[in-house]
Amino acid sequence: MNGSRSGFGKARCLVVGLDCAPPSLLFDRYAAHLPNLNALRERAKHGILRSCLPPITVPAWTCMLSGRNAGELGLYGFRQRIPGTSRLRIASSRDVRFKRIWERVEERGGKAATLFVPLTAPPSPSAGTMVAGMLHADGPATYPPSLEAELQQRFGPLIVDVADFRDGDLDRIFDELEAMRDQHFEIAKTIWREQKPELLTMVELGTDRLHHAAWHRIDPEHPRYIEGHPHEQRALDYYKGIDAHIGELLADTSDDDYVFVVSDHGAKTMQSGFAVNELLRREGWLHFCREPEGVEPLRNVIDWSRTKAWAEGGYYARVFLNVAGRDENGVLAPAAIEASRRELAQLFERAVPGTKAYWPEHSFGVARGAAPALLVVLDNLHIRAIGTVGHGEGDALRVPGDRHDGCNHDWNGIYLLAGHGIAPGREDAEIFDIHASLMDILNLSGDPALHGRSLRMPRSGR
Ligand SMILES: [Zn+2]
Repeated sequence: MNGSRSGFGKARCLVVGLDCAPPSLLFDRYAAHLPNLNALRERAKHGILRSCLPPITVPAWTCMLSGRNAGELGLYGFRQRIPGTSRLRIASSRDVRFKRIWERVEERGGKAATLFVPLTAPPSPSAGTMVAGMLHADGPATYPPSLEAELQQRFGPLIVDVADFRDGDLDRIFDELEAMRDQHFEIAKTIWREQKPELLTMVELGTDRLHHAAWHRIDPEHPRYIEGHPHEQRALDYYKGIDAHIGELLADTSDDDYVFVVSDHGAKTMQSGFAVNELLRREGWLHFCREPEGVEPLRNVIDWSRTKAWAEGGYYARVFLNVAGRDENGVLAPAAIEASRRELAQLFERAVPGTKAYWPEHSFGVARGAAPALLVVLDNLHIRAIGTVGHGEGDALRVPGDRHDGCNHDWNGIYLLAGHGIAPGREDAEIFDIHASLMDILNLSGDPALHGRSLRMPRSGR
């Protein structure tokens, strides 16, 4: 901090998102190596930030920045089921039907900058300055579109993600992670300094990619961990670079400004995978047209005319029913839906200890979009849901996870919040509290149905 007063007479807000950053690294194992984050923690309210259901990038950042849960948003993963069909498509900013915090700032006439936040592609004109994040495919990556050429000239071609981060080529992946990190933070520092937005929100996705690519080099509890491996040091160095960039950003803030460092979920060692569709087949819910030839996608072999339930894999499983009159090859009678859900919930909870099946309408109050019949979290996220089939003879249910990805998501992310009137100290929070705090700090009012409570202490007068 430079101690100067901001020239606006009102606070500015800086939100730095570190995708997938867990308390085990930021508050514990790496803490001694992150001087800027440690100094921030000294003056910040901070703690565990409990993620949403499901604890994955899409929808978690959108939940944090809109105050709406996954069922209200109708977002259950970065691939969205096309209603009535078994097909999935990549989610985009057009799927977000609620305001995110920057839109509220812009509507009030303030200036917001939104950089690399998941589910902002394609960029929307209501967002102020925007550089799209992951899943950006084509068309302008920025709003205004002319910004893209300007940024490219100054910082090189925009990097939205790390290619093939699960291919095991760690030297290349580290090179790309570092380049993406440095470019993103340089852009953020420049825009914070030159445009002086009231709210700047950035998300660095590289921390998530690092964990998925190299968790076996980071977590001593991982079965493939080797103490002193050079990639262990490189992972720490990556975080030290993040810390140095955050230090430079903080040097450009004033005493009046508010700073958030947040993650959307945490990370933990994945113990194994579990072949969810193999279980459904074994129990008669799902049928094949032919035997798989090695590991294959479900859609290659599924016999829809006899299948009552199927699942989409990932960090958690989405279980769908194949309902007559609703789905394109549906066979399950609508009258059997509720009993089927109860049976399926029991099936998964019995098959894998520690597993919990969630009814979307119970968890969210409402289940918009192509909601699954059940959201199934296997062994409290120790086990990844594998949607592919053909995992061999014998126990074809417990299968290795992705060969090069030793990380699953965890419920617990982190937050730090520092600024005028914020009492430092430890206080655990929920992901929606970030939205409520931003609304409070930025003096915005919204629908009382928004989730979360502000983390700002009551004002004591100035
Ligand atoms: Zn994430």
